Amino acid sequence: IDKNPNESEFHQAVQEVFESILPVLNAHDLYVDEKLFERICEAERIISFRVCWTDDNGKVQVNKGYRIQMNSALGPYKGGLRFHPSVNQSILKFLAFEQIFKNALTGLPLGAGKGGADFNPKGKSDGEVMRFCQAWMMEAYRHIGHFTDVPAGDIGVGEREIGYLFGTYKKIQNEFQGVLTGKGKDWGGSFLRPEATGYGLIHFAHFMLTEIDEHLNDKVCLVSGAGNVSQFAIEKLLQEGAKVVAFSDSTGFIHDPEGMTEEKLDFLKTVKNGQRKSISAFAEKFESAKFTTAGNENIWSIPADCAFPCATQNELHEADAKLLKQNGLLLLAEGANMPCTPEAINYLQQTNVLYGPGKASNAGGVAVSGLEMTQNRMGSYWTKNDLEKQLRTIMKGIHEKCLETISKHNLEKQDYLNAANIGAFEKVAKAMHAQGTV
Ligand code: NDP
Repeated sequence: IDKNPNESEFHQAVQEVFESILPVLNAHDLYVDEKLFERICEAERIISFRVCWTDDNGKVQVNKGYRIQMNSALGPYKGGLRFHPSVNQSILKFLAFEQIFKNALTGLPLGAGKGGADFNPKGKSDGEVMRFCQAWMMEAYRHIGHFTDVPAGDIGVGEREIGYLFGTYKKIQNEFQGVLTGKGKDWGGSFLRPEATGYGLIHFAHFMLTEIDEHLNDKVCLVSGAGNVSQFAIEKLLQEGAKVVAFSDSTGFIHDPEGMTEEKLDFLKTVKNGQRKSISAFAEKFESAKFTTAGNENIWSIPADCAFPCATQNELHEADAKLLKQNGLLLLAEGANMPCTPEAINYLQQTNVLYGPGKASNAGGVAVSGLEMTQNRMGSYWTKNDLEKQLRTIMKGIHEKCLETISKHNLEKQDYLNAANIGAFEKVAKAMHAQGTV
């Protein structure tokens, strides 16, 4: 805390992992002698820079840009870019730190990074977003590369932004290389990358439920957020026969007791991706849906069997966890990064709600990004069907790795939180030890 003042999100992420791995650290003098945990908490490199761009009125705007190159023990730095006014060093360090463990769990050769800017794409024209992306890349290009650091999307960064960033990199370097993932399918992107995080999350929930002889069919589900992860989590839940009765965005939440359908989901995608509007438009279109403005009440007050927080960090508090449990919650799996506060997680675990930590449950996105990197290097591309199978296999592998770690370390049955942290830490720690103290 003294070394990293005013970085509460980063402290929260580090503390959670530290508490999980303490028994492993104590059992290995080597890890203590080599200061492995201290090393893993310190970013290998933090790049912070000025981003100047011109708005549609000809006025100069200035933002703060970042790239956190956190850990390269397992492969090139890999992790998304977030464009949101709340972005600061603490938030990006917590995301980069989580990324170390998530990427290790995928079994792919991926290091960890995260980046972005405190730029708000909302309400900006395409031209303004393009000029901002160009300005961001004008600095970042010298620090990234397909064998060095491969950024992707996150909040506020989708295919449009990746396109502008990629175009700028290509122009500067005069080279068409897989330096970003989440690219369009016609210009180096992979099938299934947009779907991967949401689909992977629901695969993971499926494997968790199978362990207790349960299934998703007919389960009433809540999905917070209405962006990339949420939309495809809803899509996969519909395919699994679940009933999705609510979703949200930063303006409020929709409760539709009749449940989502493919037609309703298509409309939601148009509202959020095409028109970039509030989800309140959904309630204007569908009679069964009610919109509640963000305020005291939130989406977690709706009774459900399964909850999937897919919006942002610390969006689900202890009081929400209590209410969900009181209303009969069976499973909660995280689509977002660190969406539950430590108190909420503690409560869920103590009351035997099946809890899927984001590091494991939302790793499908970075996994398919890893597969996009492989395809870029090979110069040939897998079909959607191939990738669907590979994603499911990777999510199954992460689930099995958790069960193995539970058994190896005598953890509580279904303690996915400690299992994910310990299993991933052991892998990264071994690689760091093998590579010496650099
Ligand atoms: P998007 O920008 O596509 O969507 C984010 C959604 O969350 C939007 O509906 C947004 O509402 C809502 N939201 C954002 N901030 C807040 C807030 N403070 N309060 C309420 N709602 C909010 O992002 P993604 O779907 O890509 O990412 C969502 C989460 O998933 C993040 O935590 C991200 O780190 C994590 N994640 C994403 C991966 C990916 O592949 N994209 C991979 C792994 C994790 P509005 O539309 O009104 O802004």
